[in-house]
Amino acid sequence: MNIEEVLDKHGDMCIDEPLCNHTTFRIGGKAKYFVYPKNELSLTRMIEACNEVGMPYKVIGKGSNLLCHDNDYDGVIFCLDRYFIDFEFESDGKCFVSAGCSIILLANEAMKASLSGLEFASGIPATVGGTIVMNAGAYKSDMSQIVKRVRVLRDHKIEWLDVSEIGYTYRHSIFQEHPSWVVIAAQLQLTPSDQKEIRDLMDARRNRRKESQPLEKPSAGSIFRNPENHQAWELIEACGLREKQIGGAKVSEKHCNFIVNDERATAQDVAALIEHIQSEVREKFNVHLHTEVEKFNWPEKNT
Ligand SMILES: Cc1cc2nc3c(=O)[nH]c(=O)nc-3n(C[C@H](O)[C@H](O)[C@H](O)COP(=O)(O)OP(=O)(O)OC[C@H]3O[C@@H](n4cnc5c(N)ncnc54)[C@H](O)[C@@H]3O)c2cc1C
Repeated sequence: MNIEEVLDKHGDMCIDEPLCNHTTFRIGGKAKYFVYPKNELSLTRMIEACNEVGMPYKVIGKGSNLLCHDNDYDGVIFCLDRYFIDFEFESDGKCFVSAGCSIILLANEAMKASLSGLEFASGIPATVGGTIVMNAGAYKSDMSQIVKRVRVLRDHKIEWLDVSEIGYTYRHSIFQEHPSWVVIAAQLQLTPSDQKEIRDLMDARRNRRKESQPLEKPSAGSIFRNPENHQAWELIEACGLREKQIGGAKVSEKHCNFIVNDERATAQDVAALIEHIQSEVREKFNVHLHTEVEKFNWPEKNT
């Protein structure tokens, strides 16, 4: 079987596509194949073909939580944000949504339909699938509070998982332990509510983000998870690391838990800065900062 023919038949395929064009960090080498699958069936066929020939693959959303290595990736990237984008609301607040739909768009549409529950997500530059995998959250809310069921492709079968089977905890889900599983769609439960109240809350959240986060520079959002009883940014600040720079990577002056790609940063620059912060915080506070951002395509010894 010719893998290239299968990919070309079942999706929009690019060869040697730079991943820096598909990550919010604007960092990453080229992917041998970058494919937008057309539908569930085509995705299933392409994954089967990858498994048959032993070709590695990864499904991504908007690449807003990825630190891709500068080396090229000799595998297939499946990106769902072109064709898996439909959604539907029901009057009782049920929402059916495909995994590649933008969560910002969905939050806006939910507001227009007078449905509350997605206000917290209205500034997260991600797909629904990515937020389900990461249990993305903000302002004391997260995806686990609105997800009811998730449609998953795993072990050659497509099935629905109830939220109780997803193992949600802070920024964690079962999907992170099973990188070969693909989130295809989800059922969310939103709450009918007053449209103006939803809009006002979303506006307030958006303004707060603009004031406190370096949205004008490429980044992957918060670099570290908040350790128990601490805010990561406070620990970094207390170590005097605001604006600390290694190569083109810099701790944001606006928000210490953001590393920005200030000037043509390499993945190595960002990784070196992450390690430096971890070691300073460990030395001063005896606290280990776990990364929230995910390293992808790193040589084994460096991960
Ligand atoms: C400016 C900025 C602000 C941010 N603010 C927040 C915030 O407030 N709260 C927060 O939690 N995060 C935030 N983030 C981080 C990021 O947006 C989230 O982690 C988000 O959930 C990632 O979604 P994505 O679609 O970009 O996924 P990607 O980054 O593309 O992928 C993340 C992981 O999910 C996997 N994945 C993605 N889609 C699927 C799928 N369909 N099936 C299986 N696996 C999949 C990928 O393989 C990868 O392992 C922010 C990022 C930025 C750049």
